[in-house]
Amino acid sequence: MSAYLEFRQVTKRFPGVLALDDVSFTVERGTCHALIGENGAGKSTLGKILAGVYTADTGQILIEGRAIAPASPLEARELGVAMVHQELAFCPNLSVAENLCLGDLPRRAGFIDRTTLIARARAMLAAVGADIDPDTLIGTLSTGREQLVQIAAAVGTGAQIIVMDEPTSSLSATETADLFRLIGTLKARGLTLIYVSHRMEELFALCDNITVLRDGRHIATEPISDTQPTRVVTQMIGRELRAHTPAHLDRELGPVRLNVKNFSSCGAFKDINFSIRAGEIVGVAGIVGAGRSELVQAIFGLDSEATGHISVDDRPLLLGSIERALAAGLGLVPEDRKRQGLVLGLNCRENTALAALPLLTRLGFVRRNAERNLATTYTKRLRIKTPSIEALTAGLSGGNQQKIALAKWLARDCDVLLIDEPTRGVDVGAKAEIYQLLDELACEGKAMLVVSSELPELIGICRRIIVLRAGQIAGEVSRAAFSEASLMQLMAGLNAAA
Ligand code: ADP
Ligand code: MG
Repeated sequence: MSAYLEFRQVTKRFPGVLALDDVSFTVERGTCHALIGENGAGKSTLGKILAGVYTADTGQILIEGRAIAPASPLEARELGVAMVHQELAFCPNLSVAENLCLGDLPRRAGFIDRTTLIARARAMLAAVGADIDPDTLIGTLSTGREQLVQIAAAVGTGAQIIVMDEPTSSLSATETADLFRLIGTLKARGLTLIYVSHRMEELFALCDNITVLRDGRHIATEPISDTQPTRVVTQMIGRELRAHTPAHLDRELGPVRLNVKNFSSCGAFKDINFSIRAGEIVGVAGIVGAGRSELVQAIFGLDSEATGHISVDDRPLLLGSIERALAAGLGLVPEDRKRQGLVLGLNCRENTALAALPLLTRLGFVRRNAERNLATTYTKRLRIKTPSIEALTAGLSGGNQQKIALAKWLARDCDVLLIDEPTRGVDVGAKAEIYQLLDELACEGKAMLVVSSELPELIGICRRIIVLRAGQIAGEVSRAAFSEASLMQLMAGLNAAA
């Protein structure tokens, strides 16, 4: 017996991105089928191919064994497939009734038959339990109610398969509860739902089966009752989260790369002394205002008031000069990458090459090829998801922007990296990738100073953690003694008596 709905070796390429790579799985009739994966995994693309928004490059979609290839959303509708989009799918300045009947406006003697129009719309809305006045303009509805109208349109035009792409992302709690009830009703009527969401609880509460996509590839399809959230996360990101200790911790440390002595800046920090060896990741913890960011920025030459001694690879560094810091092999990935780290109006290639420009410039000209090679290398190495290295950085997700901020310094081949909040605003999978990357860099012998407000992050990746309090080093904790409680006590100054 053939499956109700089958994706068979579906492949779709966009310029520079393989959005779907040979994806095959089946969906049972009358079920709610979860589609999950990280940003960019290909979920929306798959839904849009089914709903006729895009066409696949190769592969097939079959309904009850018959291949379908809708060339437009209208054709998909005729085949019984509809998609509920996040984006506005209707004409905002037409009424709910007009939008619902747009494809087939009732007419009488050349005029639109308003009575029939309203009656038909009312019936469509009632079929999905939507209490919405058909005369309301679409543009004045909340997202949740507009979505309901989209579902009414789908059901009212006889859809048997409905793709819902992150339907709850902008719904209130009650709207979400209403939607879940409706999904139950639709299932009971034999409709099949493909439910795209990041929200694990929802999927486990609502869906019968789950399909995981990763980087455009099909990873698993299984009954929801046979899996658990942790397993799904592992499938989504391709490895267990924080399951292994970083490899750099087992390596021998090299010579001291960064040495900071009697380093002070009035009002920011005072008498800071520490050093970092090749292959070592040292964390900096502290509460807001403890001077963490001020310290890393001063080391990088951004504080003209700073005094003391810094040496890199045993060579003294002239303080207060970014040019000297750069020349000495220092790199800074700042906390606010939008303001300080990246030029969002530049593309990925330009941002990656930014810090390395002096190395790529000959006789005052940037060597384009060298720049392109560099950007390509790091885009691959950091698994940056971008349509191309020419894409504007502003359009990428936070995680990918952060990776480019890192790439920028790696491209310059800095020996000492100062990293302020490496994963702020980054999603769970990209976080794990960034940790992995920091680990690889340490294994290569780079020295890193990592500032973070997330103690578990520091505990996960560092060999030692320096705790700053009110601009001074309140203590240093080595890996064997790591615990959130002890670090917090130091941060807050509660251990003074101990
Ligand atoms: P998801 O919905 O899982 O977040 P998408 O299906 O939207 O992922 O995207 C998959 C990949 O295809 C991403 O790398 C994305 O940048 C790319 N992509 C999606 N739509 C387009 C498009 N219209 N043009 C170019 N690239 C696209
Ligand atoms: Mg999507």
